Amino acid sequence: MDQTKYLSFSGKNEYIVSGGQVEEYGIGSLLFAFLDVDWMKLHDEANDLNRKCYIENIDRETYFNVHDESRSYMIAATYYKLLMKNLNALHPFLGQIIDEKLCDAVYSVLPENYDLVHDVTFDLFRNYPSTPESVERMELFAESSGDAFSSPVKDWSLVEATNAFSVHLIELMENMLAFKADMLEMMAFSLDKDSEFADMKPPQRFYLMQVSCFEALVRTERLIVKNKLLGAEQRILREGEFKYPEEKITPEFIAELKRCTFFAHMFYTSEDVRALVFAEFRHMCMNELAVRKCEYCGRYFLPFSSASLYCDRVVENSEGKTCKEVAPTEKYFNKRNADAARKLYSRLRNTYHMRCERAPQVYPHEEYYAWMDNAKGLLKEVDAGSLSVEEFEQRVVLERTR
Ligand SMILES: [Zn+2]
Repeated sequence: MDQTKYLSFSGKNEYIVSGGQVEEYGIGSLLFAFLDVDWMKLHDEANDLNRKCYIENIDRETYFNVHDESRSYMIAATYYKLLMKNLNALHPFLGQIIDEKLCDAVYSVLPENYDLVHDVTFDLFRNYPSTPESVERMELFAESSGDAFSSPVKDWSLVEATNAFSVHLIELMENMLAFKADMLEMMAFSLDKDSEFADMKPPQRFYLMQVSCFEALVRTERLIVKNKLLGAEQRILREGEFKYPEEKITPEFIAELKRCTFFAHMFYTSEDVRALVFAEFRHMCMNELAVRKCEYCGRYFLPFSSASLYCDRVVENSEGKTCKEVAPTEKYFNKRNADAARKLYSRLRNTYHMRCERAPQVYPHEEYYAWMDNAKGLLKEVDAGSLSVEEFEQRVVLERTR
């Protein structure tokens, strides 16, 4: 089974190929989603699942039964669906890696000619009992009889696949956990706006990491290079297009193509999500897309500007409000907001002041004073929590030089 994932970048966007379709996300989406996952918790859950579901001595006489919730495969299938739902909500690639573990498990324990058992296992994990079709198929399977099966059907194949799935899941979580620790170290060093080396640009810091044998980078590069994890594939696309739809050769389509401009676009390819997370991190370093930890939730995000302190993630139990919306209403964070706005204000004021000094005819002092009055009024609104730093910035921004 082909598990290759495609990822590419353009400007402020990230593009992935999922199920033949190209999807567009904000740049850094995969990286942030990967870092948002509490892999330690998932590692514990995988161990827990293994304890509950792993059956050492498989009874080959037990019948297949989807109505018994205590069966190992029923417990594992329920957990699989929950995990898929949570990870898919963060990024499609993250859900995909769980499904890949299911595939690995099924193909590793069930011989090729067990096609039907493969299908039943996938159906049970992925769909049952959410779709009426899967419910029907399970009933049919339980009653089936044929060359390979005696009626009713025994369940040991499913038990074996479930055993393997729980083992594969633990291994996956261990790998992700270790990689996240390395990723966080590299982020803190090279991409964090508030890092120890914040006065250097991210490409300079990345280079420094490279030449100083930064351990997390050495480990990551070894992992990717040694296992040849990262590949690349170039696609020829129409200007402004990242999709490559299937089209027929028709005179209309040919006429349309004659009017198009084309460009070569590089997709990173890998079966291992870690290689793609790293590729995105490196891309962001080289393009100076520095990140910051949200002052509210502590997770990395790409700030809109130097004054952005909070991310757009939805805060739990807040009726769908984001950190950016919640934080300014809370007093402690309000002070932080006010400080950031003041810092921004004083920087802009200096710039404006300098313009007035250098070219008083072009930049009359009256305009400068009016701008200051307006900004001071807005600062009071930030103090009171009724104006966000982002809105403040948008309303005091200086015009381009005349
Ligand atoms: Zn946040």
